[in-house]
Amino acid sequence: MNKQTVKDIDLKDKKVIMRADFNVPLDDNLAITDDIRIKAAIPTIKYILEQNPKKLILMSHMGRPNGQVVENMRLTPVAQRLEKLLGEGVFKCDDCTGAGVQSDIAEKSERVILLENLRFHKEETDNDAGFAQELASLADVYVNDAFGTAHRAHASTEGIAKNLPAVAGFLLEKEIAYLGEAVKNPQRPFVVILGGAKVSDKILLVENLISKADAILIGGGMAYTFLKSQGKEIGNSKLEADKVDIAGDLLEKAKAANVNIELTQDFLVVDKFDNIASRKIVDEIDEGWESLDIGPKTIEAFKKVLSTAKTIIWNGPVGVFEIDEYAEGTKAIAEYLATLKDANTIIGGGDSAAAVAKFKVDQDITHISTGGGASLEFLEGKALPGIEALKDKN
Ligand code: AMP
Repeated sequence: MNKQTVKDIDLKDKKVIMRADFNVPLDDNLAITDDIRIKAAIPTIKYILEQNPKKLILMSHMGRPNGQVVENMRLTPVAQRLEKLLGEGVFKCDDCTGAGVQSDIAEKSERVILLENLRFHKEETDNDAGFAQELASLADVYVNDAFGTAHRAHASTEGIAKNLPAVAGFLLEKEIAYLGEAVKNPQRPFVVILGGAKVSDKILLVENLISKADAILIGGGMAYTFLKSQGKEIGNSKLEADKVDIAGDLLEKAKAANVNIELTQDFLVVDKFDNIASRKIVDEIDEGWESLDIGPKTIEAFKKVLSTAKTIIWNGPVGVFEIDEYAEGTKAIAEYLATLKDANTIIGGGDSAAAVAKFKVDQDITHISTGGGASLEFLEGKALPGIEALKDKN
């Protein structure tokens, strides 16, 4: 990575402000149901504390409070979990800027301070210059370790970096190393598995990967628009009618670039979308039926391509994996990836990350990205503003 990290800058006796992604799910009692994002920030937090800074000020957003204080989106549960994980006190402020926060930072005995949810101020998502300056005025050095929001130019991810020496944390560095290496310099064969609900979300991704991958396997809801472009009957399966031409163009481009694109070949179809529907495996989808998963032939065809791959990126489930009856295809792919010990297996966050966790193979995957949207934009070849804003390595 050509950006400086916490290791490239002197942190001793400095006030360090770090943007993390503590956007964790809470249940109705405000208990954290999954703390993976908090745990992912711990290596950087521990490293900073080992350098004996004057203070470490942490900041994050949670949910979408739309610029207002929303009581059940306060970061209090995050502060409590951080205390447990760090084994030391964490003082949580009631706000993220202003005189009260300034005096908390000056007076409280805790080394670690957590600011309140940044998105209680709409200036955060507006990337307001004055708000960014106020955040910057709290510290001497800025660290960004929030890969999940690096694709957003917000005050705490981009604006603040204009006002302070700005470096990356280890999580950001690791994400860029895995995702960047995979697309820029992949060990070949390089195979991409794409799924998920919509083609429209993935057009740029397919376009960018056509020039890089050796094979692209397409399942999930997006496959039917591609199949339609080949004149296939798809019944009531998910279709984006206005994207059929683009899907056809992408298949042509892939052919011209010698990229092997494999689409769903057989289908688990249902007569209605619920878990008591009649269902069967078919090679062709009849009128009135809807496909919700890939069938066994497709699973085998995908596995065959994957078996020789050295780099694999997976973005999007190949079926409606949230419902057990339609999860077989996604489960088979997840379990197969876990057996491929010679390949670099990378999960592009979001639903595919949820799938590998659901099927309990997350330990056997090389890298699971913590950012769904950010990893998608990174793999599309876009520059992420939160990364661009950091200091270049000399
Ligand atoms: P995305 O957010 O684009 O990755 O889409 C994920 C969603 O796609 C999941 O909620 C899946 O249930 C859904 N999905 C996957 N396969 C299908 C399918 N064959 N038909 C409808 N939805 C699907």
